Amino acid sequence: MTTAPVLSYSSYRTYLECPQRWKFLYVEKRPEAPRSYFTFGRVVHTVLESLLRPLVVPAARKVGSAGSQRTLEDWQPARVTTGEALLMSKEELLACYEQNWSAEGYLTPEEEGRYRALGRDLLLRYHDHLARERPRPVAIEEHLETRWDGIEIHGYIDRIDRTPAGGLEIVDYKTSRELSNEDVKDSDQLSLYQVLVEGNYAEPVERLTLVHLRSQTPLRGRPRARSTLERLHDRLGTVRDGIREEAFDPNPGRYCNRCDFKEICPEFAVVPPPEEARLKELVDRFEQLRAEERRLESDLKRTAEELHRSAEAIGLHRVPGSRSVAVRRKEETWQYSLDAVRLLLESAGLSHRVGSGSQEEIRALVRDRTIDPDVRRRIAELGTRRVKWYWDLDLADARR
Ligand code: SF4
Repeated sequence: MTTAPVLSYSSYRTYLECPQRWKFLYVEKRPEAPRSYFTFGRVVHTVLESLLRPLVVPAARKVGSAGSQRTLEDWQPARVTTGEALLMSKEELLACYEQNWSAEGYLTPEEEGRYRALGRDLLLRYHDHLARERPRPVAIEEHLETRWDGIEIHGYIDRIDRTPAGGLEIVDYKTSRELSNEDVKDSDQLSLYQVLVEGNYAEPVERLTLVHLRSQTPLRGRPRARSTLERLHDRLGTVRDGIREEAFDPNPGRYCNRCDFKEICPEFAVVPPPEEARLKELVDRFEQLRAEERRLESDLKRTAEELHRSAEAIGLHRVPGSRSVAVRRKEETWQYSLDAVRLLLESAGLSHRVGSGSQEEIRALVRDRTIDPDVRRRIAELGTRRVKWYWDLDLADARR
């Protein structure tokens, strides 16, 4: 049993995708190779942070939210917070971009060049967009933590804006190729951010927004309903419990091809040379027996059906072979409606007799002589009898 971790969205998602990969990353702290799309996203986020930070006017926080974060009282306005002047110019923006650029993770200079040009283009277009529509951020790249009904969560939120109605809008930038309205509706990331903001800010969350930077499109959604958040809480609880119990089984699937740990993953461990021949032989034998098993199963089914048809046609229940006798046997089961049985027992003052409510337990009540015969008869009448005939072999019968 290990201590419960403070879960972020990416840690939660990693565990759901593959607990073994979670262990490599969060327990063994193994680094992953840099990826171009992560580097690109990080650089763009950093530049947007520099661009928008001067516009921040902090909002009121809940009493008792993390002390390291800025509150309205902490805030000392250094500059006038109105007008275009607060935004850096396009030249300053590009200079900031070049200063923060990183070549980490790009596979070729061409790939790096394409991304670099894309970044310039989308930042300049976003600068134009801000000239037309100025947000009112209350926080940029803010780290928030909260305890959500027993589960510790944290996250970095790209931006929190004030809405025209005075509430809060959570904004997350996406540099990915595609984005749809479904992403806003289904995003666990935005749900988690809503909980973080609600746990730290006094005003209500009114909007959840993903900004698709390539198309400059904000995709907006309403805050999540309580039922949606409760379902997320359940999933987080399952992840938290799995980590606590050190359940780190590999979950091989579509993530393996881009997993940096495939070579050390137990799922893909290679057979040591001294064992190779012996294990290969066992696998081949296993495969052969499996094929045999399937062939026998289908042969058995076909023979039993033919025996049943032929014996039925001439009214036989026992058919002798050379070494045994095939005997027709009956399997009888009863199905009861648990609700109807409960009602009946309640009306008879026997509600304490309903335990697990299994079919076997109800059938046992019918045979239970401590219960009034009339009640037992009425329970029996609630049942539906199912009969299944099958054929079996009786070796002893053949020897008689
Ligand atoms: S290779 Fe696949 S199963 Fe192994 S850790 Fe990576 S994602 Fe998990």
